[in-house]
Amino acid sequence: MSHVDYTVQDSIAVIAFGNPPVNSLSYAVRAEIAAALDYAVADPQARAVVLYGKGGVFCAGADIREFGTSDVRRPPSLWHLIGAAESCEKPVVAAIEGICLGGGLEIALACHYRVVAADARLGLPEVKLGLLPGAGGTQRLPRLVGVETALNMILSGEPVPASLLARTALIDCLVESDVLAKAVQFASQVVARGEPVPRTRERRLNEPNLAALCQFARNTVRATAPNYPAPLRCIDAIEAAAKPFDAGIEVEAASFLALLESSQSQALRHIFFSERAAARIADVPESTPVRDIESAAVIGAGTMGAGIAICFLNAGLPVTLLESKQDALDRGISRVAEAYESQVRKKKLTPDQRDQRMALLSPTLSYSAIAHADIVIEAVFEDMSVKEKVFATLDEVMKPGAILATNTSTLDVNQIAKVTRRPQDVIGTHFFSPANVMKLLEVVRGSATSKEVLASTMKLAKTLRKTAVVAGVCDGFIGNRMIGQYSRQALTLLEEGSSPQQIDAAAEAFGFAMGPFRMFDLAGNDIGWQIRKRQRIEHPGLEQSSVADDLCELGRFGQKTQGGWYDYRAGDRTAHASKVVEDLVAAYRVKRGIPPRDIDAQEIVDRLVYSLVNEGARILEEGIAARASDIDIVYLTGYGFPVWRGGPMFHADRIGLFEVARRMRQFAWTPAPLLARLAAAGQPFNTVDKRAA
Ligand code: NAD
Repeated sequence: MSHVDYTVQDSIAVIAFGNPPVNSLSYAVRAEIAAALDYAVADPQARAVVLYGKGGVFCAGADIREFGTSDVRRPPSLWHLIGAAESCEKPVVAAIEGICLGGGLEIALACHYRVVAADARLGLPEVKLGLLPGAGGTQRLPRLVGVETALNMILSGEPVPASLLARTALIDCLVESDVLAKAVQFASQVVARGEPVPRTRERRLNEPNLAALCQFARNTVRATAPNYPAPLRCIDAIEAAAKPFDAGIEVEAASFLALLESSQSQALRHIFFSERAAARIADVPESTPVRDIESAAVIGAGTMGAGIAICFLNAGLPVTLLESKQDALDRGISRVAEAYESQVRKKKLTPDQRDQRMALLSPTLSYSAIAHADIVIEAVFEDMSVKEKVFATLDEVMKPGAILATNTSTLDVNQIAKVTRRPQDVIGTHFFSPANVMKLLEVVRGSATSKEVLASTMKLAKTLRKTAVVAGVCDGFIGNRMIGQYSRQALTLLEEGSSPQQIDAAAEAFGFAMGPFRMFDLAGNDIGWQIRKRQRIEHPGLEQSSVADDLCELGRFGQKTQGGWYDYRAGDRTAHASKVVEDLVAAYRVKRGIPPRDIDAQEIVDRLVYSLVNEGARILEEGIAARASDIDIVYLTGYGFPVWRGGPMFHADRIGLFEVARRMRQFAWTPAPLLARLAAAGQPFNTVDKRAA
């Protein structure tokens, strides 16, 4: 298939390239653009060249579909295109509209002129993958937009509207419409003027405050992104743009290679691909039909119900919120209204937008008001008998084809489905708290859930801007099942001699957003207590006693009650050590005959993290998660696992499973069978992904 159209209009060669949806630079596109540039150079009809991206988009950079294949490195490279455009004797004009990112912008920077639509968005997002723009971006951008703007663009990785760059040398002509026609016109004027072509590499960077600007940027990124090497390397490379071009390029190239090897960039790239992989389900092809979801109902207007309703309202979908009692319904509606009010106060939303969203919300106490919703999400108490009653009613009232979803955190979705006559329409949609903020959505596939319902729910997740991961049915699915082991380990460490502060400090130094005890206090210690009580009934002899239960007996449920593992003084969110807890733990140790010992931070971290890894291995082997990387995404987007470590399974692969298993045995644990097998075979978890794909 041809990706490039070559035409000559008024003595101007137009190279229009296309590779839907975003004109990414696949091997075929690179090869055809390179050939077209050569042709234009030799074409006696062409006096200048316009490079144009078809379909309303200039170019989004490298083609991620080629990553991991030999085509990535197959010549002609991006470098070749950039060199060919910049060294061309005939003027080369980039006609830019839509998006112009990464390698796409690096090509545009090397063109001699740029005609840009005012609403185009330009950016160099490489820092988000722990890299820097390595095809001259760090050298050419500062030469065209100045050091300060280049620092902002390269360090944030965010695209910038062209209108904000209008006064810089990056934009020779800002246009409102017809970018191609205007670029051809512009090229004709350039030809008529007959001036020598300007080359970005030949511009001098003239910034008297270069050192001070770079130092300020270094101080900022050291404070805001201490665990990432890429921002500092970006700054070094931008500072080197003051040198002759080739010397600056050497700094850029050396930094790029170092970053490519860095564990942080490997983790960020792993996450980038894992998020995309999570959307693919082996036996549910992309062609699976999906149901239209244009309206929703939510049952239960508590913490989760209100948050879930907001997710739909934000996506512009009408929601009916159903409660069993008027006062609970009123509280739920106020919760939604308050969330929007707070956004208006913070200027994240206009009063008009708030009114539009609130207008999509209908409160009700009656099931007849929700019968026509395309999806209903149940978020009532975590109690099987309550949920069974709700689903039996839904089965009676909902229109045929409606998706019946439960937000349960731990309960058996298959048992819930069985109370209906349409188990194929029942699915778990496990949102995380606060539902309107957290990115993760665990989509729980019941044994009877139809492929159509699964595909429709995955599509809905995109509409709601969630990162969806499919989980099978088990107690706690992926995330909560793993956090159960992690919590148990945190409590065992406490019982053996560590304090909540020591354990939290070790976990936070490793990079967790918050340590386990601060997390328990925030979420409410009573949640774990309820789950432990249920599990003891279901599995007698599982675990007889826990210091956490003693804490709950005292009514210390966490921040909500001003006391948990820490004391929370009124209006003060800082956690203080609690004497009550010290005495409680000491009494517990005496009662159980546990002599306290000093446990170092490394052991604390290894036991916490490897408890996740071991349970993750079981989850993977049982097929509850399809890939190790799905488990990583759950932990990164739902549980505050440090992003630069790439998730628990990726972290374990980096350490090496042999070493992980050896350490587990030092703690007298039995490594999960899959982990033991992989460790013995010298293989990582990601080889299991390949078998699943
Ligand atoms: P909540 O107690 O804040 O809210 C539950 C609401 O359901 C209450 O307003 C209650 O009046 C209402 N309700 C109870 N029975 C009802 C019925 N028969 N019909 C209509 N309404 C009824 O609870 P929550 O924290 O929002 O949790 C709801 C569900 O979400 C549970 O299954 C829970 O496990 C799950 N969940 C909770 C969290 C969390 O962090 N809170 C996170 C993920 C999932």
